[in-house]
Amino acid sequence: MAYATTNPYTEEVVATFPEATDQEVQTALSEAHAAFEKWRDTSFAERARIMNAAAAILRRDIDKYARLATLEMGKTFAEAKGEVILSAEIFEYYGKYSEDLLKPESLPVADPATGKATLVHEPLGIVFAVEPWNFPFYQVVRIIAPQLSAGNAVLLKHASNLPQCAASCEELMNEAGLPKGLFRNLYAARSHTALILNDPRVCGVALTGSEGAGSIIAGVAGKALKKSMMELGGADAFLVLDDADVEKAVKWAVMGRHWNAGQVCVSAKRLIVDDTIYDRFVDLYKKGVAELKAGDPMDPSTTLAPLSSRAAVEDLHRQVEEAVKHGAKVEVIGQEVPEKGTFFRPLLMTGLDGENEARHWEFFGPVTQLYRAKDEADAIRIANDSPYGLGGAVFTKDEARGVRVASKIRTGMVNINHPLIPKADLPFGGVARSGFGRELVGLGIKEFVNHKLINVVDIDAPA
Ligand code: NAP
Repeated sequence: MAYATTNPYTEEVVATFPEATDQEVQTALSEAHAAFEKWRDTSFAERARIMNAAAAILRRDIDKYARLATLEMGKTFAEAKGEVILSAEIFEYYGKYSEDLLKPESLPVADPATGKATLVHEPLGIVFAVEPWNFPFYQVVRIIAPQLSAGNAVLLKHASNLPQCAASCEELMNEAGLPKGLFRNLYAARSHTALILNDPRVCGVALTGSEGAGSIIAGVAGKALKKSMMELGGADAFLVLDDADVEKAVKWAVMGRHWNAGQVCVSAKRLIVDDTIYDRFVDLYKKGVAELKAGDPMDPSTTLAPLSSRAAVEDLHRQVEEAVKHGAKVEVIGQEVPEKGTFFRPLLMTGLDGENEARHWEFFGPVTQLYRAKDEADAIRIANDSPYGLGGAVFTKDEARGVRVASKIRTGMVNINHPLIPKADLPFGGVARSGFGRELVGLGIKEFVNHKLINVVDIDAPA
């Protein structure tokens, strides 16, 4: 896979970058390991200093980073700036809390008189991070902030359409004062996955991406007996119950489905609306989507960005055609979009009944799958009729009802009265075909550590 910057708005190839050689990968592994051997013994205070420095650089140079994201994958400049701030917040979170999150834990034991059992959390080595293009900085920081704070090293293989964002992540950490080699961007080839994961200095892989990539890379990791953490696709349900505030739910549904041009794993992809409010909701939703304005992502008035690439547009059109062949009905609900640039005109899809296998697909762009639910139980049934299990949202004026419904939805995350939008201080991850493991907070920092038992036993204790 060639690494290249192609501006989705102009479709011009701006720059290309050669893939790493095997020798460069070997050098990166050796340098990362050497850096890890020292870094594992650095204090949390020193690690926190570097996390906070990285956050400060992101905040200072927000326009530079945001412009790069917009250039390489097309998101609006305003959303790109939000992503840079979120990334800074994640660095700050781990700067503040890592020591506490990883402090040794005393274990309650049956007979405390005979010994003292403690669980310590020690770093394991080099983590291989394979990341997607939809959030060029956030996806990387979600891994490097916790893993570097835990004392590990990280080698990054970023998406091939983000070579400049990827390089800027390494420059950021160098400027923040991270020891040389501890975090490196590699323009890795596919063949390097096995080379890296079979290296004994590497403790595992964290992948965010599609199911296809997940099953290949988790397979390589499994064969090498390495841990993997998989953040994969999703088709989140957005339930609107009969007592919901319809106007506000519509506003969040329009935003939840179309931010980042609909290319979000936790986007509100499946709207499931109670029969009693369905017509009013759908009418308002169509009006809301029709107000979105496609255009130059650098223009502050643009609210619908181009997709990340021409291939993404073609794949999505193909997938919609397939869904129609399976019985789906499609209605254009967005305004016309510019011909030049990788835009996709928003669509509403219905006819996704139990016979139509397209109800189980993830549409990575502005295609809304819409369902009419007979009642609350039916809404929960439709929500759970998915191979994915990433996020979801429930809209109701009754908080307790929202929590009860959320407890019946089989995903890793559910919001009440808000679409799912990542935050620095909340965990992230899913179940079923959305993957396994959790990123962020204490769960994320403990994914690649050795939970080691140190048991001090009375020498006269019974056998
Ligand atoms: P993708 O095609 O799977 O790519 C993700 C990363 O994996 C890229 O760096 C890609 O490199 C690499 N990759 C793919 N196949 C590989 C292989 N055989 N060997 C080594 N590396 C490989 O996914 P995407 O299209 O960029 O992202 C969209 C998907 O990611 C959607 O399904 C979305 O829902 C999911 N996603 C999930 C989360 C989450 O947290 N759960 C967050 C964001 C996105 P190349 O670019 O070189 O192909």
